[in-house]
Amino acid sequence: MLKAVVTGVAGQDGSYLAELLLDQGYQVIGISRRRSANRGYPNVSHLIGVDNFTFLEGDICDATFLNRVIYTYRPEEWYNLAAQSNVGHSFREPTVCFDVNAKAVISQLDALRSLSPYTRFYQASTSELWGGLKCPEGGYSEGMMFHPRSPYGVSKLAAYWAVVNYREAYGMYACNGILHNHSSPRRGPDFATRKITNGIARVKLGLQDKLRMGNLSAFRDEGHSKDFVKAMHLMLQQESPNDYVISTGSGATIEEMFKYVCEIAGLDFENVYEMDKRYMRPSEVPYLLGNSRKAREELNWVPEYTWKALLKEMYESDLSHWSIKAY
Ligand code: NDP
Repeated sequence: MLKAVVTGVAGQDGSYLAELLLDQGYQVIGISRRRSANRGYPNVSHLIGVDNFTFLEGDICDATFLNRVIYTYRPEEWYNLAAQSNVGHSFREPTVCFDVNAKAVISQLDALRSLSPYTRFYQASTSELWGGLKCPEGGYSEGMMFHPRSPYGVSKLAAYWAVVNYREAYGMYACNGILHNHSSPRRGPDFATRKITNGIARVKLGLQDKLRMGNLSAFRDEGHSKDFVKAMHLMLQQESPNDYVISTGSGATIEEMFKYVCEIAGLDFENVYEMDKRYMRPSEVPYLLGNSRKAREELNWVPEYTWKALLKEMYESDLSHWSIKAY
């Protein structure tokens, strides 16, 4: 039985990836940092106790913890999804962001190199490596010059090069999945798409009057997490390691997404949206479109969801959640 470690398993992608791997017969060792005060792990509570799923509480910044996990399990595959993943928040805690998103990646690569060099390593890289330069017409693809615009992007860029370096220097099977935006009903509530679907569901039910957000002009290539985790797995099944852009190739501005969900809810955008300067970032990424031709050709990866189908699913899930609470 193949063993796979998934860090950040209680996050959005980690939970979908764990389900996919369990379905394929893997033993999955899922890692998430400890939460106090009984906050639980809602995205993976249905997996805890399931055969072949082992849940470990631990912080990826702790090298002793990582060494113990690698030494104990020596997994065939290792997916590093744990991160301080919120771009806006990274401006407020830039060094913590760097510790988790960059330094802890080097710790994982180096521990694997010493203890389990044949483990295949996936790094959750991001389209936020780009953004400071004009987006090419067909979208960003592998090999294009990077220019991050946030501490998050900077930390992920350091991790990106660490992966390339460990591959070149030590011959490790290590890949960067350069993923564009993706969401789902399991997306954290402080990310734009979820903020929109959750907020509009609450306005619809009369639980709040307005939805306050910052800049709505940013354009994002947006897909479903369920589609994107399939690409992660495919990357580790190839003959040789490589880096791939994963994106749907289409998207919308945050304002268009907001208006679309208002339309589904039967609400008027002008009555729901309120500008709140607190959510503006010191530097924004105006336009991110991805070109995933390489992944489609080499991995045979094809996304099933459009951004509209994604937002509809998310809105319906939030509406049903708040309807039960309101009742
Ligand atoms: P989430 O924020 O939902 O998941 C990240 C998980 O990592 C959370 O459960 C978080 O725990 C955990 N975590 C944070 N710090 C640590 C730590 N020090 N030790 C152990 N666990 C930790 O993000 P997603 O699932 O959406 O994203 C997965 C990965 O993909 C991330 O690396 C993200 O940066 C990257 N990515 C995501 C994109 C997207 O659009 N979703 C696009 C491109 C890349 P807690 O809940 O306690 O914070």
